[in-house]
Amino acid sequence: MRSTTGLLAVLLCFWIPTALGGARTPFFDLTVYNDWPQFEDYVKGVAHDNPSFVQLKTIGRSREGRPLLGVRIGKPAPAGRRKIAVWLDGGNHAREWPAFHVAVYFIEKLVNGYLVDDKITKYVDTLDIYVFPVLNPDGFVYSRTSSRATIRQWRKNRAPENCTGTGPFQTDLCCEGVDLNRNYDIGFSHNNYPFNNPCSDEFQGPRPFSEPESRAVRDFVMSSEIYGRLYALVSMHTHGQLWILPYNYHKRTYPQDFKDLETLANKAADRVFAYRETKYRVGTAADMLGTATGGATDWIKKNTPTKYVYVLELPPDMKTWFAFQVKPHWLIPIGKETWLGIEVIFDQVIEETKNFQPTIEPSGNNKTDISRSPRFRQL
Ligand SMILES: [Zn+2]
Repeated sequence: MRSTTGLLAVLLCFWIPTALGGARTPFFDLTVYNDWPQFEDYVKGVAHDNPSFVQLKTIGRSREGRPLLGVRIGKPAPAGRRKIAVWLDGGNHAREWPAFHVAVYFIEKLVNGYLVDDKITKYVDTLDIYVFPVLNPDGFVYSRTSSRATIRQWRKNRAPENCTGTGPFQTDLCCEGVDLNRNYDIGFSHNNYPFNNPCSDEFQGPRPFSEPESRAVRDFVMSSEIYGRLYALVSMHTHGQLWILPYNYHKRTYPQDFKDLETLANKAADRVFAYRETKYRVGTAADMLGTATGGATDWIKKNTPTKYVYVLELPPDMKTWFAFQVKPHWLIPIGKETWLGIEVIFDQVIEETKNFQPTIEPSGNNKTDISRSPRFRQL
């Protein structure tokens, strides 16, 4: 017979988080690849079910009108105070399904761990954690419609066809889609080959920010909601096991605080390695692979005070070509090991910003008075 104390302990385990309004996530099966409606339902559901610390964020709409959805996970700041914010996203390349799922794993970890796991509780209490699982829903939906390689391995968004494309022996070819990670206004040039070819997988678009998906991210990172308090941003892609630092629009080009970014990346990559020996290479993609202009994280690092800005190319490594969609039983192990690296980043952010003075949120009629700490403003 179970003792009264034991029974009480069991009851408390379930009762405490629910009574405080947390620790409840809708079902999302991370042992299979899900479709867009499952992501949409999940993100909306997790915000609906946990109103005390999860808020739904819709930062814009895709070409085809789908919402660019995410959540803000964080205990509300006291009135008139601002919290430090961090950002995690599953990237914007259609075929990179594991990254989208790992972003959901992070939401699961944070929401279910709140008031249960001390470390998670500290993160949620101290930070505002923004998570955007899918920043290219149209491309993702398209890539799920057929196993034909040209569709399953689709990378771009679903911008209408542009008939200035070129092939080996042809001109004026019509091709659809823009690579959202080449569409930002950094290193953008109409002479960039092959990014200027609409039939390239990496077409940059006719002009910087021609796409609603990239404009939405730009506008949100520049908005009064997070500008000046977003301290770290991790954008996940697949694949290659690379921990990518800025800048990538040019070789051997680095931000002033590159050493800090590199030191933290090495520390986080070591932590990931300790779990099951997944080895990340750390550096700029420009130096490791070749120049890529118009990247989201390059633009954010250059145009905002956000300090730690990384792209993670998740497993597998680069030995296998086109291994964008690993067998889905790897999603949870990849989520687990990657989370350990994210914890290293969050710990550093909390440590570095502990003396940061939270300030009044800029109001509409007092926009010039955004008083950030001098330390943060220097970044
Ligand atoms: Zn990618």
